[in-house]
Amino acid sequence: MRLARIVDEAGKVHHGRPTDEPTTFELLQGSWEKGFLPTGQTVEGRLLAPIVPAAVYAIGLNYHDHAVETGAPIPDYPVLFMKNIRAVTGPGEPIRLPRRLRSDEVDSEAELALVLSRDCLNATRATAFDHLAGFTCANDVSARDWQLRRSGRQWCRAKSFDTFCPLGPWIVTPDELPDPLHLEITGRRNGEIMQQSNTSRMIFDLPSILEFLSADTTLPAGSVILTGTPHGVGMARQPPVWLQPGDTVSVKIEGIGTLTNPVVEAA
Ligand code: ZN
Repeated sequence: MRLARIVDEAGKVHHGRPTDEPTTFELLQGSWEKGFLPTGQTVEGRLLAPIVPAAVYAIGLNYHDHAVETGAPIPDYPVLFMKNIRAVTGPGEPIRLPRRLRSDEVDSEAELALVLSRDCLNATRATAFDHLAGFTCANDVSARDWQLRRSGRQWCRAKSFDTFCPLGPWIVTPDELPDPLHLEITGRRNGEIMQQSNTSRMIFDLPSILEFLSADTTLPAGSVILTGTPHGVGMARQPPVWLQPGDTVSVKIEGIGTLTNPVVEAA
């Protein structure tokens, strides 16, 4: 099932699933832990980020070709960083280029994201997917000047500005995505393909990531885990390509959908 969060015209937030009409959703009842069931009732509204995460974990340098294009060595262990949960924004919402702590080198990263339905501690490869509510698209928006030159090699500052974590358009439950280790993933800027790869090209696959992150470490229910970006990011272009006001970026993943966001300057 596709699980969406929507806001109706009165401002009330619901769980729903998409119908053939883009602004009409069938209401769902349930919870992340127990699952959701359709109610047969519909509501008019627009999509929000499909979850308000308890935490946002992210894996860096997890595709061979991306590690190579950045000049970084292939990592021996998954490279973990975290993003501010308040950086999350929804489909169609603008990515705001920071102007108070100015960045002129904002980049876009297409990523598959995992959503945890319950606490996850010491998962094994065999049990890793038992903890999943499902999968969604993410854009790991990154201010490269702050990431690479002004941060003491820590990435959290550069990746935690407001609106720097678009998620959506909805969460697809694992039963509808039988082979998440082989999904086409495409990142576009103004319609042009920037990134095109397959989740099979990850250095650490999805069960390995969950096993590593949850080792002696409780990942709380409602966590979102970004699983790394393929090659083709703007930073690696000659000359580099940075997001500009007026751009539109999108992340498309096979079997999930397309997450699209316009780019504006922060006020
Ligand atoms: Zn990333």
